[in-house]
Amino acid sequence: MAGISTFFKPILWFITCIGVVIFICEYLVYYVVMFQCSWPDISVGKNYKHDGQTSDSAWLFSGKPLGSSARGPAIVNRETRSSKHEQEQNVEDLRAIFIADTHLLGSRLGHWFDKLRREWQMERGFQTSLTLFSPEAVFVLGDLTDEGQWASDMEFEATAKRFRKMFHHSPDVYFKVVVGNHDVGFHDFMSKRKLERFSDAFNSSGVEVVTLKNNSFVLVNSMAFHGDGCSFCSSAQTKLRGVSERLNCSRFGHQGGDKQKEKGKSRCSHYRSLPAAPPILLQHFPLYRPTDEMCSGIDGTPLDEKYIPHGQRREVLSQKATDKLLSWIHPRLVLSAHTHHGCYIVHQNVTPEISVPSFSWRNRKNPSLILASISPTSIAINKCFLPEEYLILILYAASGVTMATYILYYLVCILCRHRWRHVKEL
Ligand SMILES: [Zn+2]
Repeated sequence: MAGISTFFKPILWFITCIGVVIFICEYLVYYVVMFQCSWPDISVGKNYKHDGQTSDSAWLFSGKPLGSSARGPAIVNRETRSSKHEQEQNVEDLRAIFIADTHLLGSRLGHWFDKLRREWQMERGFQTSLTLFSPEAVFVLGDLTDEGQWASDMEFEATAKRFRKMFHHSPDVYFKVVVGNHDVGFHDFMSKRKLERFSDAFNSSGVEVVTLKNNSFVLVNSMAFHGDGCSFCSSAQTKLRGVSERLNCSRFGHQGGDKQKEKGKSRCSHYRSLPAAPPILLQHFPLYRPTDEMCSGIDGTPLDEKYIPHGQRREVLSQKATDKLLSWIHPRLVLSAHTHHGCYIVHQNVTPEISVPSFSWRNRKNPSLILASISPTSIAINKCFLPEEYLILILYAASGVTMATYILYYLVCILCRHRWRHVKEL
């Protein structure tokens, strides 16, 4: 009996140790690392002198557009001011998570283990964030799939199903996605069918407005801003004009002389009113920037890519489309994706943009998500980094070495005991 117990005890111990190590490396480590993140405190912004980046991974924006008061408070009418006051008094801030570029692999690229590993990591990262932070809204800024542009309907549906499983959430969480070039192809490869199946799978449309807790978000399909007058671009432009008019009606009311007022009044009566605060623009491509020279930080563009000029309509939106979006929407903040690197930039010295880095370990070694507290007058943002892969590898390696040492020690002990018994018998 004693012999069997001596034999099975170390095996049991070994299996238990392996189980514990896997539990720590594949589950617990996400909680330990992400527990260090928290929602940014929006109330700090009320007394804060500086608008913009406050640390390497935190930002704070008050209601006024950066660097200018020309197009906000100066032309806000009394109606808007009172609703703004009400908003400050009555509405709590919205807690939203932003992630980007999950790039779920299809059948063409990558090894099956790569796919399995990355998807598990993203699922754990996202599910841990739901448990720790209980967000009210989650936005995914495009390129949900890696091969959506080439996939057959069947394969696309299978990938969409995996995405929904990985990012499942309670019905209380508002979940919204933006379309990316890998989901439907770049402008020249987009088709009605690809857009429809994406829209059916993820309940998303080209240009739309979402209102949450008195904050509005404008979501656009970046590939439909090519500016060549194609059917996608024309439809997106018409929708954007409608959104712009609706925003102006809600923000500024009816201005000008009596005649104009009447005209504006009848036009505005067609629209359901939106919150008075300027919207947040969500899109896949960043707004036009010549290079990533300005992008700094630990997850900014690496030095060897920083000075490579961006291709308009490919890496970033065209200058023309950028000007249109900025002048029609007047966003208080732009959140984009696509480059897989973090970037903070201010357009025309007024509009801040944050490019959200990829959420997949396949694209970067330090993926992250954005935790944003948003009120009609302020936005506070913290970037939350997920565990780095090298940390998990170190944990596995250290555990492996410890277990191997123990096994070796155990075997040496048995051998010594056996030899000692043998000597005694002689
Ligand atoms: Zn992309």
